[in-house]
Amino acid sequence: MNEIDVLKKIASNLTERKNSAALSNYRVLCSNIAFLNRAFATAAGTLRSLHIQIESSLTNDSHLNPQYKSGTDLNAFVPIVSRLQLNSFSVFEKLAALTGPDERAHITLESVSALSRGFDDYNDLVTATRQYIDSIVADSYQLCLLDPKSFNYHVLVSLNSFSKYATKSLAHALFNVEVESALNEFGTIKFKDWAKSHITECNHSTFAQKVDFLFSVLGAPSDPDLPDDLKNLFKFSSEFTHIGYISTFLTSTAGAEVIFGDEDGPYLPSTENFSELKYEILETACKALLATYIPSLVKCLEKLMLKSQADRFSALLHQNAAALSDAIATRNSKYFFFIKTGLIGSSSSIPLTCMCGETRTWVSPHATTDLYCTSCGSSFQLLEVDGDGGYIITSNGPAKIIGANVPDFHDLPMDEQIKLLKQCEEAAKSAHGPQLGGQPDAAP
Ligand SMILES: [Zn+2]
Repeated sequence: MNEIDVLKKIASNLTERKNSAALSNYRVLCSNIAFLNRAFATAAGTLRSLHIQIESSLTNDSHLNPQYKSGTDLNAFVPIVSRLQLNSFSVFEKLAALTGPDERAHITLESVSALSRGFDDYNDLVTATRQYIDSIVADSYQLCLLDPKSFNYHVLVSLNSFSKYATKSLAHALFNVEVESALNEFGTIKFKDWAKSHITECNHSTFAQKVDFLFSVLGAPSDPDLPDDLKNLFKFSSEFTHIGYISTFLTSTAGAEVIFGDEDGPYLPSTENFSELKYEILETACKALLATYIPSLVKCLEKLMLKSQADRFSALLHQNAAALSDAIATRNSKYFFFIKTGLIGSSSSIPLTCMCGETRTWVSPHATTDLYCTSCGSSFQLLEVDGDGGYIITSNGPAKIIGANVPDFHDLPMDEQIKLLKQCEEAAKSAHGPQLGGQPDAAP
């Protein structure tokens, strides 16, 4: 192969590209996007309202550690920390606005082209993602460090680039005499010395280095793939925001699309492909908030504030994180149901109530491809149980065996319920059983 052969192969691949429809269920995808987007926006909203309380506490000297009180050198960090948070929130909210579910209520065959997703959509989503992922890591890094030289580096490098092209009015609005003098001082430092000078320092200049540093300080995330996911998302989104050979070819190919349909109406392969990406981004964004930003803010407040104050905010921030973490865990999960032997393959319809509350009625002939929740995408695994028992005692609670001839757990007399719960407690002490999908009252 010579260089022209390779060039031709690239050209044909980029121009004759076919739309590959996602295999996953589009309705489930939309439902999960709506759910996670709401959880993400709620978490960001809670951070914003907590910020008001944090700010008022930070301006109260009696809440601060001695080295950060008014009049000290490090007191400069008080307004900086407050401002950093506000900047982050704008970026979070932008991403939340761009990761909502597709609006399908009034889509018909005639108007289905409104759901077509192309370059502009990808560009908006991925550019906002790039900004999010970049700033959440940079802000977490600064909040974690609270180091004057590192913060100076971060700001002066930005200001220096900004000032080169900023118009007079912009420069006037942003640069006062103090900033000018700081920039002038920075101007005396050679480029090669920026990362280590008398006023600046940067020990982790790349995105990947910052990510690794953060997890070394904050501890490994519960999802071991997250550090790589963050780095990969950063590279992927950089492709879109920079030269973008791949991204423009991928997203700007015009042409008729096959029309798909489900109970909610028609849709297009490009809508589904775009939604898949949106969901992936949303999930990584939520995990980044949980594993980098919130713990970094906690760490920062622990430095600035007296223990009693920091503990108070830490509890509220962890509460916010736990709600978001629970929300992620309920999507595309895996649940087990206990079912009486003989029911599968019979003519009976089997109602399977998921942890999210949605009931899927599994009708004969009980195809295993239907064993998932249409609302949250969780998959169901059925464990057949022999004998006349009515409940299975698990570490997660008593589970009624589907098809067993016993009352629902909540219909049992209170003393019976307590007896079962005590047995569950014993089971929980000894082992962690499989996660149960069927709430006790799910069975017929
Ligand atoms: Zn579900």
